[in-house]
Amino acid sequence: MDRILAGIQRFQAEVFPDQKADFEALAAGQKPELLLITCSDSRIDTALVTQTRPGEVFVLRNAGNLVPRAGSGSGAEAATIEFAIEGLGIRNIAVCGHSRCGAMAALGDPDATAALPALRGWLEHAHSTLEREASFSEIEDPALRRVAANVMVQLEQLRTHPSVAAAEARGALALHGWIYRFETGEVLEVVPGEGLRPLGASAEAASALA
Ligand SMILES: [Zn+2]
Repeated sequence: MDRILAGIQRFQAEVFPDQKADFEALAAGQKPELLLITCSDSRIDTALVTQTRPGEVFVLRNAGNLVPRAGSGSGAEAATIEFAIEGLGIRNIAVCGHSRCGAMAALGDPDATAALPALRGWLEHAHSTLEREASFSEIEDPALRRVAANVMVQLEQLRTHPSVAAAEARGALALHGWIYRFETGEVLEVVPGEGLRPLGASAEAASALA
């Protein structure tokens, strides 16, 4: 913990003063372009991989980047999603899974959650991921196949939220399924029926985010 406390002190003493005006401007409000739903995994740095500054990306993180169906979770995810769309007017949501995801590994291994009842219960929100894997047979790596299947399942569950369904129906919201491979730096788009392709390879993806 000492290194982290020292980091906070260094931020305040050395980093913040240089960017003081930018941080003060943020007091007026936020206008993020994207709600990024990703895993809590410490190997994911959302600002680093998107090269964004504070105020630009609204982030929802939990183990396994899960989105409980409307009415079925604790309410934390639903509240965040609703505020992103209705409160902030965000027009893009990406569900971003990642390589080497411990939550996804645990999903197929009941022994892994034998002593983790809360995690086991939480992973119920991904219960249809395992059966969905077969529809991503073109992805060779079985671990990535599961991550891709989960991203698709979570996008479907995202669409059960009234604010998401309504915004998408009026053309005010685009949903994206991504996988971040932190060991290679790649961000891949999950394309049903096709597998994975580098993000930005499709003109539609680029224009939806514009
Ligand atoms: Zn993970």
